[in-house]
Amino acid sequence: MTIHQNLIAGEWVGSDATKNINPSNTGDVVGEYARGSVEDTKAAIAAAKAAFPSWSRSGILERHAILRKTADEILARRDEIGRLLSREEGKTLAEGIGETVRAGQIFDFFAGECLRLAGELLPSVRPNIGVEITREPVGVVGVITPWNFPIAIPAWKIAPALCYGNTVVFKPAELVPGCSWAIVDILVRAGLPKGVLNLVMGKGSVVGQTMLDSPDVHAVTFTGSTGTGKRVATASVEHNRKYQLEMGGKNPFVVLDDADLNVAVEAAVNSAFFSTGQRCTASSRIIVTEAIHDRFVAAAGERLKSVVIDDALKAGTHIGPVVDETQLKQDTDYIEIGRQEGAKLAFGGELLKRDTPGFYLQPALFTEATNDMRISREEIFGPVAAVIRVKDYEEALAVANDTPFGLSSGIATTSLKHATHFKRNAEAGMVMVNLPTAGVDFHVPFGGRKGSSYGSREQGKNANEFYTTIKTAYTLA
Ligand code: ADP
Repeated sequence: MTIHQNLIAGEWVGSDATKNINPSNTGDVVGEYARGSVEDTKAAIAAAKAAFPSWSRSGILERHAILRKTADEILARRDEIGRLLSREEGKTLAEGIGETVRAGQIFDFFAGECLRLAGELLPSVRPNIGVEITREPVGVVGVITPWNFPIAIPAWKIAPALCYGNTVVFKPAELVPGCSWAIVDILVRAGLPKGVLNLVMGKGSVVGQTMLDSPDVHAVTFTGSTGTGKRVATASVEHNRKYQLEMGGKNPFVVLDDADLNVAVEAAVNSAFFSTGQRCTASSRIIVTEAIHDRFVAAAGERLKSVVIDDALKAGTHIGPVVDETQLKQDTDYIEIGRQEGAKLAFGGELLKRDTPGFYLQPALFTEATNDMRISREEIFGPVAAVIRVKDYEEALAVANDTPFGLSSGIATTSLKHATHFKRNAEAGMVMVNLPTAGVDFHVPFGGRKGSSYGSREQGKNANEFYTTIKTAYTLA
């Protein structure tokens, strides 16, 4: 098997490799991917630093052309890359292709943003003096990504970083190097000069930590666990660098008595279980008011019976496997914790056998849960959700907001009054009415508050807040 190598200073390097395993079929090796060292990472940072002066001054048409070409190739190869994504991460083929399309659209969006760079010109309070306010790139950006969106998250960090003139050292998650390698290969062939984008696959504790410890990394954008996010924050404060964190969620989905039952069930089941519940925007707390509670639980149970859990690449699969054994253990441990805490396992939670050996878990729906149980407070990151019964809208809102996290929040209701109130008062970065808590378009801000996120928003035009720094310049006319 040929090794997919790291890209450092424009050269593909590395012979020490790790096998990438398909979670739908653990006998299937997706490929071998280089494992970078401390030295590799330092070389990548040095290359990005050396490439910065010329890339930061490159013309907007050059950047536009490269990002545009990248978008075109990703979109043209959507089926092939989407299949690779599903094979290495375990989300269904439809989800894999959908995510690949989103990555292409993100590159396309930022290709356009290159052409819309603008500043402001203000009169000074002193006569005959003009003040220019412009945005400049930050420098070397460290991009650290998780396994659950193997192409969309790298795209939404790398595309704006390059668009605004930064150079990049990119460290993807160990479990899903395939899609990352594919987009770096595409970007390089699209014409990126040497050193502008460096790929160092490998361990977080080696590659990631070396990036965090380097004074030559001027900004770090991170998506992953709360624990690692804290490390990123501490190291970044130490180096006085910019940082941006997207971490966990414990997103509520409220169902009110006046909800359309079908809408509520579809949105709740999608939020909680699709993509195997492995989305930071997944809803794991379903907060249901009294009069609709029993009907909702019965209908959700019925709906779950029709959900097909199988090989991600098989036609007809709705939910693929859990990503790996460690995550599967975490999920089943929490199912046991929920039982011990006194919640009732109303549906699922069993390990499933399929034609191929994989990490198959039936979606688990708890009822009779309270908001102080661990299953209601801690992020599980799997197909495990709990229904919490509440009296009315006011209690539902209070319970929804009673969490250390604040990424996404949803409500099912036909009341304009409650929908409007919820949109204004949900303590979350993103709010969905009669829609799943996950599923944010590629051109709008993505991010949260409280324990979920730190720093400015990702995606859309707001991405420039992180990837640029402002300059205020005066001229005496
Ligand atoms: P997850 O549970 O999603 O794997 P992690 O926070 O462990 O969450 O991983 C997210 C990303 O952070 C991965 O690319 C991982 O390799 C990286 N990472 C893990 N440990 C460190 C570290 N000490 N320094 C920098 N990056 C790290």
